[in-house]
Amino acid sequence: MAGYDYDLFVIGGGSGGVRAARVAAALGKRVGIAEEYRYGGTCVIRGCVPKKLYVYASQFPEHFADAAGYGWTVPEASFDWQTLVANKDREISRLEAIYKRNVEGAGGEAFHSRAMIIDPHVVHLLGEDRAVTADQILIATGGRPAAHPALPGHEHCIFSNEAFDLKKLPKAIMIEGGGYIAVEFANIFHGLGVDTTLVYRGKEILSRFDMDLRRMLHETMEKKGIKILCHSVSEWIRKRPDGRLDALVTGGKVLTVDQVMLAIGRIPNTENMGLEGIGLEMTKTGAIAVDQYSRTNIDNIWAIGDVTNRVQLTPVAIHEAMCFIETAFKGNPTAPDHETIATAVFSQPEIGTVGLSEDDAVKRFPDIEIYRATFRPMRHTLSGRDEKMLMKLVVDGASKRVLGAHILGPDAGEMAQLLGIPLKAGLTKDDFDRTMAVHPTAAEELVTMYKPTYHVKNGQRV
Ligand SMILES: Cc1cc2nc3c(=O)[nH]c(=O)nc-3n(C[C@H](O)[C@H](O)[C@H](O)COP(=O)(O)OP(=O)(O)OC[C@H]3O[C@@H](n4cnc5c(N)ncnc54)[C@H](O)[C@@H]3O)c2cc1C
Repeated sequence: MAGYDYDLFVIGGGSGGVRAARVAAALGKRVGIAEEYRYGGTCVIRGCVPKKLYVYASQFPEHFADAAGYGWTVPEASFDWQTLVANKDREISRLEAIYKRNVEGAGGEAFHSRAMIIDPHVVHLLGEDRAVTADQILIATGGRPAAHPALPGHEHCIFSNEAFDLKKLPKAIMIEGGGYIAVEFANIFHGLGVDTTLVYRGKEILSRFDMDLRRMLHETMEKKGIKILCHSVSEWIRKRPDGRLDALVTGGKVLTVDQVMLAIGRIPNTENMGLEGIGLEMTKTGAIAVDQYSRTNIDNIWAIGDVTNRVQLTPVAIHEAMCFIETAFKGNPTAPDHETIATAVFSQPEIGTVGLSEDDAVKRFPDIEIYRATFRPMRHTLSGRDEKMLMKLVVDGASKRVLGAHILGPDAGEMAQLLGIPLKAGLTKDDFDRTMAVHPTAAEELVTMYKPTYHVKNGQRV
């Protein structure tokens, strides 16, 4: 639209926003994008990428210990937290520059500024103290860790954002939460030698995942030395004269730690952006309400990614961006597909999962077949590590369609990515059975579990 400064203005330079800006610009659209903090957003700066680097760092002590069974003598190792943080910073700065360059290289204009919407076609750039006009506006402002103002002493707590950049590695940490971020950080800190306690109000960590995985991961984490307190919350946090923290948890136990990290959920970034002023509809949880095409109640304003609180994952934000481009700029209305999303939890051991859990499948299908194997991965035979791997397929007894695949063990995330393809394609257990195994691998178990371990018929295990 010639009357506006831009065909598209994107607010938020994270996974979803950058993808939409780059692809729209490559289509020849006049595109502007504003990022108030750092290009790359949560995933690159304080999410997936630094998290995975820290997971790698935290795995070395087990690798050193396991090496002995293979004949290696590894001298006593030492770890330097500041080196890890500095190297992580270097890598995320490199990625940040690539993200910005990709937008500009495609012909988009990238601003370093907070942005707010003052009219359905007008965006105010606070950092530049000026307004720009746009035909279409895309909100991709992501989310942030949920605070806990009702917790006495909450001001002493940190969130995942700060955990990446602590000045010093704590000797002891308490992490409150039972979602994947809490679980991953518990494993990271434990692996780096920190005395770690996970406090979770629910019955079992990682709700929404298959119960078998949850239980077995819980047991394995405890065996490694991570303390897990379920059905527990912290009641207050107090600073001690020596600078450490006391945390009272359910049941009256006081934990003395150096850091308390809250990982109790994430909330969408929608405040102070002028959204109420223009009458933009929100959901009850404060997310931006969108239709199946990511369009808000205002025709030319769209929203994607974590700010819409659909599925909070990087590939989902990127997929929603691509669907938005099809719909808004290619005349090909495309609704994002949120079914059967393969995902991983980078716990230790790792979880890889796709499709329905056993409990969810049982609610939807009258006859379920469960194929389940637990075994010691080959790499642990010589290392002597007492750690089992779990593989589980959830199959519809009537059609034999594989509804869910759940793995706990080394490289489970990598396997889940590949399993995402047959499950998305709706393949059956017979297709799995016809597939030749790759030997010797752990993954071969997925195509060699010929007989169901048990059935669940009308909710009853038989
Ligand atoms: C610790 C952690 C680990 C994670 N690990 C994984 C993982 O392993 N795999 C995975 O798939 N996902 C993971 N995620 C989730 C993933 O990071 C998010 O789903 C993804 O980044 C969402 O992308 P987005 O574009 O919606 O938002 P974001 O990436 O959050 O980007 C939003 C951007 O908007 C900016 N912004 C906000 N308001 C304004 C404004 N008014 N003006 C200008 N800019 C603004 C923010 O600064 C931010 O950079 C993790 C998240 C966390 C916190």
